[in-house]
Amino acid sequence: MNLFIYIFISGAILGSFYNVVGLRLPKNIQFTTSRSACPHCSTPLQARDLIPLFSYLLSKGKCRHCQHSISITYPLVELITGFLFLLAYMNLGLSLAFVGACLLISLAVIVTVSDINYMLIPNKLLLFFTVVFVIFRAIHPLQPWYDSIFGALVGFSIIFVIILLSKGGMGAGDMKLLGTLGILLGLKLTLLTLFLATLIGTVVSLTLLSFKVIGRKDPFPFGPSIVLGAVISYLYGFDLLQLYFDTFFL
Ligand SMILES: [Zn+2]
Repeated sequence: MNLFIYIFISGAILGSFYNVVGLRLPKNIQFTTSRSACPHCSTPLQARDLIPLFSYLLSKGKCRHCQHSISITYPLVELITGFLFLLAYMNLGLSLAFVGACLLISLAVIVTVSDINYMLIPNKLLLFFTVVFVIFRAIHPLQPWYDSIFGALVGFSIIFVIILLSKGGMGAGDMKLLGTLGILLGLKLTLLTLFLATLIGTVVSLTLLSFKVIGRKDPFPFGPSIVLGAVISYLYGFDLLQLYFDTFFL
């Protein structure tokens, strides 16, 4: 039981860091040295303002200095990261696969923050995780090991073709993102990721359109759908594929 709480809190603390990375990396602001400040009055945050979730609850979502309300996305990102870490642990236990899931969730959270805020997935981030996933798959290889290469090549190429054919909708960032994820996921789960991402992206964008949150011509970031599809594929992919084949090919 203690381990559940420990993993959730670790996820929430990391989530608070990933939120900062996602907001600062695209703008080339140092995220390791400079301290976080209130975006409204620029008062640097104190240590007591940096405890994930609790700080937000204790300050009732307002800056202590200027009373300006703090975006709900901060505690939300912390909560979601903690929850996803917990979900991965409940699914995989303490294993190398669990470590892989935590790496994937980390990339997913940073991509989501960055893509929603700036319509951008930083190259530096993808390069970093390409190295991380290659090292991880060297230690804990797919069967066969070169499935990682297939996943990366096919993930990259499919979106390349989609970009050529569709003229918009998906961008170069999405292409590099699915290529990077392919190293971790292998061929089958990369294809499943793209399928789920298209499904999620369509449902979410139609919902936002119908509630007039976005307009018909507004750009819609596709990165969050890809990484959510990847997390679902990594945790439940083979169960989903099994279910699919059992249902349609009996
Ligand atoms: Zn303030």
